[in-house]
Amino acid sequence: MKRTAISAATILLTILSLPAQAPTVYTRADTLRGSNGPGRSWWDVTFYDLHTTVFPADSTISGWNGITYRVLTPATEMQIDLQEPLVADSIKQDGRILAWRRDGNAFFVTLTAPQQTGKLKTVTVWYHGKPRAARNPPWDGGLIWREDSLHNRWISTADEGLGASVFWPNKDYLADEPDSQRIAITVPKGMINVSNGRLRSTKDNPEGTTTFEWFVTSPINNYNVEINAGQYAHFADTLQGEKGKLTLDFWPLAIHLDTARVQFQQAKPMIICFERWFGPFPWYEDGYKLIEAPHLGMEHQSGVAYGNRFKNGYNGRDLSGTGIGMKWDFIIVHESGHEWFGNNITSKDRADMWVHEGFTNYSEGIYTECQQGKEAGAKYIIGSRRNITNRTPIIPAFGVNGGGSGDMYYKTGSMLHMMRQIINDDETWRVGILRGLNKTFWHQTVTGRQVQDFINTQSGINFDKVFEQYLTTTKVPTLEYKISGTAFSYRWANVVPGFDMPVKVTLGGEGFTLIRPTEEWKNAEIRLADPGAFKVDENFYVLSKNVSGS
Ligand SMILES: [Zn+2]
Repeated sequence: MKRTAISAATILLTILSLPAQAPTVYTRADTLRGSNGPGRSWWDVTFYDLHTTVFPADSTISGWNGITYRVLTPATEMQIDLQEPLVADSIKQDGRILAWRRDGNAFFVTLTAPQQTGKLKTVTVWYHGKPRAARNPPWDGGLIWREDSLHNRWISTADEGLGASVFWPNKDYLADEPDSQRIAITVPKGMINVSNGRLRSTKDNPEGTTTFEWFVTSPINNYNVEINAGQYAHFADTLQGEKGKLTLDFWPLAIHLDTARVQFQQAKPMIICFERWFGPFPWYEDGYKLIEAPHLGMEHQSGVAYGNRFKNGYNGRDLSGTGIGMKWDFIIVHESGHEWFGNNITSKDRADMWVHEGFTNYSEGIYTECQQGKEAGAKYIIGSRRNITNRTPIIPAFGVNGGGSGDMYYKTGSMLHMMRQIINDDETWRVGILRGLNKTFWHQTVTGRQVQDFINTQSGINFDKVFEQYLTTTKVPTLEYKISGTAFSYRWANVVPGFDMPVKVTLGGEGFTLIRPTEEWKNAEIRLADPGAFKVDENFYVLSKNVSGS
């Protein structure tokens, strides 16, 4: 298929149909939330000991979190995040009650005990209140108070972007993950709570409640920590994976057990495919779980939240528009893909969420490739481009918990797909880069720059201009060309200065030829029986324009 030449009329229509983009204004609160400020940078979280009780009758919660940290440099003021309208009741260290001042969603606690470099210390925060209720989860999140179809209470959490401090006190900053975490959730007796990691104990309390103590033995991003309380059923399976026996635990609502037994079979081929392409599942110690949730889904680590109604596709449709995406369950594949990209490798700053969503969008193409072949995988990625808007750049401001454009999914996925074409060596792509990233940055937080440098080094190709073009601008590179007899000239337009991405085109003979356009006109020989048959390889997300007449 020929990529459409853009006309002036098309451009005008496009501009007219776009709403005016108001510049994003960031506040002091955004900086406190999104940057490694003075109340954060001196300590490194090692363990969260979270204990929360859920009271569905009045939609409130209460509890405490013991925050254990290593002192990096001595300091006396510590920032702990807890979002309004939740309140802190007391904050203690070494048995002493500490003073604090509140600045919106951030608490600045004055420590009195000595903070010696290298030492482990614990601060415990007691809190309670009526947390923000989710308006449109998982996108506009918070606490989710629902009922299942039999009017049983069903409670869940989703807070990606918004932040985990919407329901528990912590250092709500992506770059600092604890090494492990306890998640002890107390719910009314009769409800079952499923969180991340493994269930260590279940205890009935005298006041008519039950405490479910879950434990995560690996680093976990704050927004992955979850509550799911309802009338759950459970079934289990195992898989012989790259690191041995992986436990698979499935937690559908009891009323959906039979349907889930069928649909959740898709987890196995997905994990086998992703282990081959991305390396071992990152959480053998904590296991793989699918937990039914009252929202579409979220990549909650070692406990993926699932709400796709046991149907293939994305909420009943195919995001790629090709029909290919109806052959697998989008939420099982996409949210589990995040176990590698997002959970194993986590961005330090939300501005680099393309590392989470771009690679995970790409993983949908990879799963399609495993299931239906390489051509289908490519077709899925190419089809998904129809969702790209090019309204704002993918990467927003850093240090302010800025959420980038939705193009971080499909446009980044398309960019990665193009890089694979340019590298033109699937073993380098799969082993050196995709598996290499997960191995090198295993259980780590990273900057987008580290990921870019890694790809450049592993491929031996400098993709800096490609990253700059696709991640920081809304411009789609346009290959301008002229054909006159056998003379073919070409150049890049609508690109960042120095853009030098190679691209594949038909110059005659068999298949595509790789050319290396820059912003300057270059010449080549073309031998096409019909010059109108000239095309750019559709695996490249670029436009082309015949400017022979101009
Ligand atoms: Zn995602």
